Amino acid sequence: MVVTRFAPSPTGYLHIGGLRTALFSYLWARTNNGKFVLRIEDTDKKRNSEEATEAILKAFDWLGLEADGEVTYQSKRDNIYAKYIQQLLDEGKAYKCYMSKEELDALREEQMANKQRAKYDGRYRDFDGTPPEGIEPVIRIKAPTSGEIVVHDGVKGDVVFQAEDILDDFVIARADGSPTYNFVVAIDDALMGINEVIRGDDHLSNTPKQIVVYEALGFEIPKFYHVPMIHNQQGKKLSKRDGATDVMAYKEMGYLPEALLNFLVRLGWSHGDQEIFSLQEMKELFDPKDINKSASIYNTEKLDWLNAHYIKNSSNERLTELLSDFGVMLSSHDKKEIILDALKERAKTLKELAELINEIIVAPTEYDPKAVKKAFKGNAVEVLETFANRLEEANELHLPSDYHHIMEKVVEEMEIGFGKIGQPLRVALLGKLSGPGLDVVMSVLGKDETLDRIAKAIL
Ligand code: GLU
Repeated sequence: MVVTRFAPSPTGYLHIGGLRTALFSYLWARTNNGKFVLRIEDTDKKRNSEEATEAILKAFDWLGLEADGEVTYQSKRDNIYAKYIQQLLDEGKAYKCYMSKEELDALREEQMANKQRAKYDGRYRDFDGTPPEGIEPVIRIKAPTSGEIVVHDGVKGDVVFQAEDILDDFVIARADGSPTYNFVVAIDDALMGINEVIRGDDHLSNTPKQIVVYEALGFEIPKFYHVPMIHNQQGKKLSKRDGATDVMAYKEMGYLPEALLNFLVRLGWSHGDQEIFSLQEMKELFDPKDINKSASIYNTEKLDWLNAHYIKNSSNERLTELLSDFGVMLSSHDKKEIILDALKERAKTLKELAELINEIIVAPTEYDPKAVKKAFKGNAVEVLETFANRLEEANELHLPSDYHHIMEKVVEEMEIGFGKIGQPLRVALLGKLSGPGLDVVMSVLGKDETLDRIAKAIL
């Protein structure tokens, strides 16, 4: 059974890059009817926050990514790590190192002066003398000093590291006893039965160290997929401006969860030339063998395009519910179907949709002076008065076409072009010259409100 995981460090908000690897891991588990587990890597007490953990869980909830089983917290597993540290010490696979900070610094300086890689020199590896006084030792693992470490990576192929170039006997427990990152990741992945690790390729350089830990403890090495980073349009690392922001900010900006997921799955993964994927489809089609080998590019227009697609295809009932977060309460509005049918094709985000709706249902408090100047020329007031009269006389006005019909009547009667009525009417009803079709606007407002707004405008 495929078991994948997402293992965030709760040091800040969950951002797009993290969420994308979470999604890939989640989907791969689902495609295989496997398991997807969540592990919070909260060992760095100074940099972790409970809010960050909550933000991750909240984002998962919003996006509908459910993890299997209980959430694992590394901070609660110290005794497990301690046991394995002891085991390695007992087996002679790890040892205590009493090097002081000064000695370590001196070694580093010397290596730098000789243009060598900074690397622990193994001086306590076979030490059996009397330890120096007053120094709490760190624990180091015996790492291979020569030969190759090969990461069999599902995205990058076999990545070969020379032990001599990248390894030293690295620290697995600090002087205060706390275990280090690469040590606990390997232990947890093994104990949690994770057999497929999908993560960002910024972690590739950690993998040889984790393999050393797997091997020392006799654990089976999982299959790795290191996913290339997401870049901005300039080919650089994502900055806050182009997406490296809190996932929940996307909700506030008015993106639908399905649009964000669809956007993310296409950042670095493809299935033929298909662009639109429902979550269900992703769960059936995702395969990490189709992860791209090069960095993917974050493109806001693409996200907007997808979001517009999902808004357009959402039921009015769902949109009504979502819009309440944006201050638009349509649930008891008798024209909500007309409003949403007319406007949902015009908005890229829920926020925009809310603004479009408010432009109609909230009466203008001021009129754009430029629009007034342009629209109220000649006999504009007379045109509006005539229109108001015809509207007053009419019965059974419901649909946009009913209103359109009255506009046509006035155009014929007064022998004027459509613009002569359209422009002043638009300014009277909306306070400006832009906006959706007037027939839609009026059918949403209804006869009384339309007459009211015309009367106020020509006072
Ligand atoms: N906790 C690590 C991070 O948030 C991820 C560890 C992993 O995926 O192996 O960057």
